Amino acid sequence: MKLFTVGPVEPYPCTRQVYEKEIPYFRTAEYSALVQRCMTRLGKYLGLEEDGRLIYYAASGTGAMEAAIDNLLSPTEDKALVINGGTFGARFCQLLTQHRIPHTELKLTTGEALGPEHLAPHADGGYTALLVNLHETSTGQLYDLGMLGRFCRENNLLFIVDAISTFMVDPYNMQQHGVDVTIFSSQKGLCLSAGMSFVALSRKALHHQRGRKVCSYFEFNDSLTNMERWQTPFTPAVAIMHELDAMLTYIEAQGGLPAWLEIIRRRCLYFRNKAEAAGLTVCRDYPLSNMLTPLLTGRADAHELFLQLSSQFGFYVNPCGGERAHSMLRISHAGNLTDADSDALIAAILTLTH
Ligand SMILES: *Cc1c(COP(=O)(O)O)cnc(C)c1O
Repeated sequence: MKLFTVGPVEPYPCTRQVYEKEIPYFRTAEYSALVQRCMTRLGKYLGLEEDGRLIYYAASGTGAMEAAIDNLLSPTEDKALVINGGTFGARFCQLLTQHRIPHTELKLTTGEALGPEHLAPHADGGYTALLVNLHETSTGQLYDLGMLGRFCRENNLLFIVDAISTFMVDPYNMQQHGVDVTIFSSQKGLCLSAGMSFVALSRKALHHQRGRKVCSYFEFNDSLTNMERWQTPFTPAVAIMHELDAMLTYIEAQGGLPAWLEIIRRRCLYFRNKAEAAGLTVCRDYPLSNMLTPLLTGRADAHELFLQLSSQFGFYVNPCGGERAHSMLRISHAGNLTDADSDALIAAILTLTH
């Protein structure tokens, strides 16, 4: 079996090895030291300010999305602009609606690339925050972080980025682009098991907190206080923290984050070049993340192909929803995959489509 899926991704042996050892209890100085080690390295990789903060939950990525909205935005004081370019953009809209946060949806049509012309009409629109899924995983579109960061700076918006499928895969830096909040989770770019999600907060975000302060699982203040001694109010995903430590150590051994990103970029370009040389069609309607390649399947039914790849070859890829459910597949390049794996997948697709 091979996972060419966006998350969970094909795991690295270093994260599996965690389960061969004993996993100690977590209300200990030893666990605090482990958390400190992990959070410090992640903060550096994020480009988080010295006085910014990083908290985490035993929850999938959507939990962190909801946490950000619930803690940072208020129904009476805020008005959000949200980029909706697919499933995850729609999820932000849904969460904003549920939390009664006034918002305007900037909706893209299938295959439409986000440009400055989409943002311009919303300048000086009385907004207080911009929310974006920087890599809209459902389509593969990677939005322009620089363009969005400039727009937020010019309009004094709290810049909230769901970087779940781009952090640790594409270049990303909070300070460089004025990002106030970064949301990410364990099972995508970090290549760990599913079940842990994170919220990184800039100084500005820490001051902006004005959502509900009632007792809630996702309430920031309790987490922030506990993190002063590298603990959490509730039981964390202890085993995944051990995976994270192992993974970050592995990435460092590969030369650190820039070298790691280059490995993924090369793997991704190898796949795209090979696929196109073999006559397959990479969707190039918009800029792409190194995380995944959207592949247009032409006359072949994409959903059928997705089923056959798993049943006949043990290759799991991501199908699409919506208008492209029958015409596009998404192939992930994150995780423990090699160029030989890319070759094998392309060969399998050719076998099934010719
Ligand atoms: C995977 C993903 C999420 C979170 O999904 P969960 O299933 O809750 O982990 C959110 N946003 C984006 C862009 C994603 O790719």
